[in-house]
Amino acid sequence: MRTHYDILIVGGGMVGATLAAALADTGLAIGMLEARPFGVPGEAPPSPSFDDRSIALSWGSHRILAGAGLWEALRDEVAPIRQIHVSDRGHFGAARIDHAEESVEALGYVIENRVMGRVLMQALAERPNVELIAPATLVDFDNAETGVTAEVDCDGQVRQLTADLLVAADGTGSPVRRRLGIHAVTGDYGQAALIANVGVSAPHRHVAYERFTDSGPLALLPMTPGPEGETRCSLVWTHRSAELARTEALDDAAFLAALQDRFGYRLGRFTRVGRRASYPLALTRSTEFARRRVAIVGNAAHTLHPVAGQGYNLALRDVALLAELVSDARRAGGDIGGIAVLDAYETGRAADTRDVVRYTDALVRLFSNGSFALGHARAAGLLAVDLVGPLRHWLARQNMGIRHTGPRLARGLPLDTIG
Ligand SMILES: Cc1cc2nc3c(=O)[nH]c(=O)nc-3n(C[C@H](O)[C@H](O)[C@H](O)COP(=O)(O)OP(=O)(O)OC[C@H]3O[C@@H](n4cnc5c(N)ncnc54)[C@H](O)[C@@H]3O)c2cc1C
Repeated sequence: MRTHYDILIVGGGMVGATLAAALADTGLAIGMLEARPFGVPGEAPPSPSFDDRSIALSWGSHRILAGAGLWEALRDEVAPIRQIHVSDRGHFGAARIDHAEESVEALGYVIENRVMGRVLMQALAERPNVELIAPATLVDFDNAETGVTAEVDCDGQVRQLTADLLVAADGTGSPVRRRLGIHAVTGDYGQAALIANVGVSAPHRHVAYERFTDSGPLALLPMTPGPEGETRCSLVWTHRSAELARTEALDDAAFLAALQDRFGYRLGRFTRVGRRASYPLALTRSTEFARRRVAIVGNAAHTLHPVAGQGYNLALRDVALLAELVSDARRAGGDIGGIAVLDAYETGRAADTRDVVRYTDALVRLFSNGSFALGHARAAGLLAVDLVGPLRHWLARQNMGIRHTGPRLARGLPLDTIG
């Protein structure tokens, strides 16, 4: 194990691991600290990032993953989303966004987090310049002018590691952000997401459904076929926190009946449900994305409501920009953790993050409101989206994660492309 790294990434969840993979070709010495053990080689690590959830990757994210050289390994593991169908339970009106109209193969892709974890770990295992350090917890650090000194608990042994750049990919509660005294704006939605994989009797035809109900939004995403070839969808069912326990307590048959009642029969009958898990939902937005020799990415910088499936997609754009700035600084013989890189990162991520946080937050508040008048306004809005081409196109681009382009990875180009 080294004692000095060019980059020390704290957190080996979805975002930390993707950043390490995106930077692997630069030749930089990268250390990735993860508090949980990485588990059995070739399998998904037991980090909470790689659990039973599925993630909807936007079209833009697929380009970033392609630029990072990961798409080849992911291609056969994803289910394409060809249409997005948005409806409001109890109100007339639905909006449909179709891939053909946007001239893309798919609006996005669905992948199981566990599978994503396996692919990322396989990609990292082959890289001699990337060291996975786990179980290892960052205990404390000092971010001096010239570099970072980190105190790390490596499975009971305390070690001192140094780095030119420390990246906080340590999740919503980010110990690094707290240690730096960076304020985070937070808001509790009073909601929780219940997730599970469900079997359906009708083909999903690669449609992603978002249905707003009086208790909160419900999403069903098309998945690859199950082990016995069955048609599966990934369910994200938002509940008011106070009502979650009641649904959690239902046995499988009663759960499927309740889901059928909420969603209707667009996917035929719900035939089975896999393991269920729930997540409390809150908004967290860091007021700063960088400090001296430290960059903040992913959930540590912004944790969103999953209503529009934007959290990891937004984080991938953090990864794309930071990886480009670091790689360019390295090629120019500059300081990869210097003020020029960190200022450009902070400035470059501001507008996209602000827009996505606002869009997601507005969507939750608009569709969680039971008011009669608002219900009609929503129905009119959905109808307008369905009928008005430019509005639909704007919404499609928002969901496809391509309103903000820029870094080479976001254009699907490798980091070593010139220009
Ligand atoms: C129900 C649900 C559905 C979602 N669906 C979508 C979707 O469809 N599309 C989408 O884009 N996003 C989605 N998201 C969001 C997405 O899951 C997150 O954006 C993503 O998981 C964030 O990953 P992360 O690596 O930033 O954080 P985390 O997953 O929290 O990982 C942080 C890691 O850091 C480690 N760590 C923390 N502190 C330390 C320390 N001191 N030392 C060492 N290690 C440490 C932790 O052990 C952990 O492994 C969804 C979220 C939820 C809850």
